[in-house]
Amino acid sequence: MASLKVTVNKTRCISSGDCVETAPAVFQFDADEKSDVVNPAGAPEATILAAARSCPVKAITVVNEETGEQLFPPPKK
Ligand code: SF4
Repeated sequence: MASLKVTVNKTRCISSGDCVETAPAVFQFDADEKSDVVNPAGAPEATILAAARSCPVKAITVVNEETGEQLFPPPKK
């Protein structure tokens, strides 16, 4: 499995909890109730992408660390 770089834009995060619910081993709320990436390898890629997709404000970015390819949001062509 490719290693992923998962980041949350905390300025954008509205603390909906969708990502935490979808992949609790990857995303957890920090002290400010913003999503924090605790373990980018905590779930299969498909689950992490589902979590990113579930974010209502598109605050989550997922990049394939080996190829540099942005997996979510899909890069504009
Ligand atoms: S789904 Fe998006 S808005 Fe909701 S907690 Fe996660 S990063 Fe924040």
